[in-house]
Amino acid sequence: QLYNQVQDLKGAIRVYCRVKPLSHEQTDEQSTVDYIGENGNIMIVNRHKQGKDARKMFTFNKVFGGNTTQEQIYVDTQPLIRSVLDGYNVCIFAYGQTGSGKTYTMSGPDITTKETWGVNYRALRDLFQLTETRKDFIKYEVGVQMIEIYNEQVRDLLVVDVSVKCTQDVLDLMKIGQRNRAVGATALNERSSRSHSVLTVHIRGKELVSGSTLKGCLHLVDLAGSERVDKSEATGDRLKEAQHINKSLSALGDVISALAQKSTHIPYRNSKLTQVLQDSLGGHAKTLMFVHINPESNALGETISTLKFAERVA
Ligand code: ADP
Ligand code: MG
Repeated sequence: QLYNQVQDLKGAIRVYCRVKPLSHEQTDEQSTVDYIGENGNIMIVNRHKQGKDARKMFTFNKVFGGNTTQEQIYVDTQPLIRSVLDGYNVCIFAYGQTGSGKTYTMSGPDITTKETWGVNYRALRDLFQLTETRKDFIKYEVGVQMIEIYNEQVRDLLVVDVSVKCTQDVLDLMKIGQRNRAVGATALNERSSRSHSVLTVHIRGKELVSGSTLKGCLHLVDLAGSERVDKSEATGDRLKEAQHINKSLSALGDVISALAQKSTHIPYRNSKLTQVLQDSLGGHAKTLMFVHINPESNALGETISTLKFAERVA
């Protein structure tokens, strides 16, 4: 059963849409999500436009509403993650405007609360558990790497590729990575919304009987905020950052849609992000994009452009 699911996903690009819940003060009327249907449909509504509502439907592999738990999100991601131990390369992206829930999906709100852990900690825990159950047949080595891409420059957040033995090792490393990320940044939140962060897990396995080896790789990418910066307002560094983000997100979109269309030319060279991930995008690699939307009415414009981006890569 699991094997079949994994085979299905091979080479495919999956797009999941996650809707952030409205906060308690916000009423239902304000939501721009009219409804979430079966089969990955989501209906967006622009209310009272010239007295008449305007609706547009988008379709993805799956849509997760505001009450979806972190656990439910992970269950759908798990087969992909586990396939890394069979030697696949997997990329998981979080896309969306700042504040739409990218970091919530990838890391969770609070590292100390396991119940709300995001995909990255759950993935590592799962990988360690699985290596343990297979240890009589395959000896695995696990290494992690954390980088940040800011203004088309790659920065390592850990000194070297670090070998890890358990989930706690990873948690400790990620704290170091987060701390390094903050160095030199005026405000971490500001900086983190304008840089891409990539957590990479390298797997090497050796079958004990045959001696044959395999390699797999998992990239967990929390992308820079996709919001458009008003060119008339942004100047200097701000404008430069915005241009770099635009360029790299559209380069990512171009690569993924070229892959989805089985195009012969895949334009990897157009951004640092796609260069860094080149070996794990395309071929027999598997890609999952979580697109995040904020259902507040004042985010409608960004919601539409996020969903259009996602539709292009699906
Ligand atoms: P981003 O990384 O896209 O900028 P965050 O993940 O930081 O956005 O989310 C912004 C705020 O919304 C945070 O306070 C976060 O805890 C909250 N949030 C995001 N998604 C959810 C969710 N699915 N459930 C509850 N709170 C969420
Ligand atoms: Mg974030």
